[in-house]
Amino acid sequence: MAEYDYDLFVIGGGSGGVRAARVAASETGARVALAEEDRYGGTCVIRGCVPKKLMVFASEFSNTPAMAQGYGWDIAEGAFNWPAFRGKLNEELDRLEGIYRNLLKNSGVESFDARARIKDAHTVELSTGETKTAKTILIATGGHPVRPDLPNADLGIVSDDIFHLKELPKRLLIIGGGYIACEFACIFNGLGVEVTQYYRGAQILRGFDEEARGLIAESMREQGINLHLGTNILEMDLAEAHAARGDMPGPVNEQIPSSGSYTAGQGPAWVKSTTGDEGTYDLVLFATGRDPNSRDLGLEELGIEVGRRHEIVVDGYSKTSVDSIYAIGDVTNRVNLTPVAIREGMAFVETVFKNNPTEVDHDLIPSAIFTQPEMGTVGLSEEDAREQEEVEVYCTSFRPMQSAFAGKPDRVLMKLVVSKASRKVLGCHIVAPGAGEMIQLAGVAIKMGATKEDFDRTVAVHPTMSEEIVTMKTPMRTA
Ligand code: NDP
Repeated sequence: MAEYDYDLFVIGGGSGGVRAARVAASETGARVALAEEDRYGGTCVIRGCVPKKLMVFASEFSNTPAMAQGYGWDIAEGAFNWPAFRGKLNEELDRLEGIYRNLLKNSGVESFDARARIKDAHTVELSTGETKTAKTILIATGGHPVRPDLPNADLGIVSDDIFHLKELPKRLLIIGGGYIACEFACIFNGLGVEVTQYYRGAQILRGFDEEARGLIAESMREQGINLHLGTNILEMDLAEAHAARGDMPGPVNEQIPSSGSYTAGQGPAWVKSTTGDEGTYDLVLFATGRDPNSRDLGLEELGIEVGRRHEIVVDGYSKTSVDSIYAIGDVTNRVNLTPVAIREGMAFVETVFKNNPTEVDHDLIPSAIFTQPEMGTVGLSEEDAREQEEVEVYCTSFRPMQSAFAGKPDRVLMKLVVSKASRKVLGCHIVAPGAGEMIQLAGVAIKMGATKEDFDRTVAVHPTMSEEIVTMKTPMRTA
């Protein structure tokens, strides 16, 4: 009889956990089980990348009539029907969840719709009351959005709640300046919502290339997003409660009648900012970061090391401080992106089940921010590269043909940061419609170690926006 019930027990049915479970089972014949307390597919499929991208697509159609008119079409503006879209969205998510469940089943993974807690180095307890043992345990429990420590913060929603809204707000306040805040500011603006965004720092999208984030901020403002930098939320309350205390709501947006769709159905919120602005909003969205889902897993009792944000500390092979327990994905707070969690899951299977120790390569990961326009980025920002060595910066910003013809002011940016010594392209930053698609391909070249001269040797694809990436001859600046 086997020493353990399973060779592998995976906790968490998101992108990373499902991939690791199914590859271990189908490619190595391991006996694998997986527990998921919520919906299969995790953040990416159920309440993140996938529904967000569908909302991006939905919101982009608002530009179509004006653009088509600019090209001679006699076309009228239409109205967006949120309940109709949300219904279709939920059907799609149900379909995808079904696929995830089937992938596990068809790979021979036994799944438990239950919460799991680690009892000892080889045992998990399920919320169903069952106890299971496994030679190796993999924690892939992901993360969750967090609200700031502010009285009444529970009156606001977080990104998980967006896809359940019964109706769209008329006036929305978004707090934060990261991926989620900026993406949803553009989405809701495109869907016709009046969007105000508070970001406490000097410029949105901290950590990304300064020129690129500057252009995104400018474009967001041009589209009508009311972006306040150096501003945070100071106080919030229900507008009614605030008015009852004798303080009238401030002047911001008051000409627009409330949709009455505020978060918990309690009515609009009154908000005061650190710069003294006051306003009433139908909805407040906190996009103020995400924390790892590491609590109540039994980690403390086992002595598994966690970091300052409660991330599980792992080595290059995703192993925790307990030999039989590994962790991958957002719960480790390394690079919190779906494809990275999947890579970490695959490397884990190579290491533990294929006898091929494989470290996860976190270098030169291309990624995209689905603002409008998008940002695609790989490698170092100009600022970070300059800290390391002497660089040449090749950069061009222009009005692309398609929107310029229609009389729109949109601008795009193509930028390469090049090592003066090795000639290698250290960073590529693109702000343009479709930048996410473009950066995937630039990412291949840069991962291969392409030099500026390799880019120069490549013939341009004409007429495109991205041809500029191979035709920039003179550095804009050296530093
Ligand atoms: P981020 O960490 O990117 O951004 C959080 C934002 O909230 C920052 O602007 C931060 O400000 C601000 N903030 C944090 N605490 C407070 C506070 N107490 N008061 C006011 N503002 C605050 O988190 P997100 O939630 O946007 O995204 C989480 C992660 O999800 C990302 O890091 C990314 O890995 C992933 N993601 C990826 C996407 C993609 O690939 N397209 C899309 C969406 C998410 P400050 O900068 O000053 O710290």
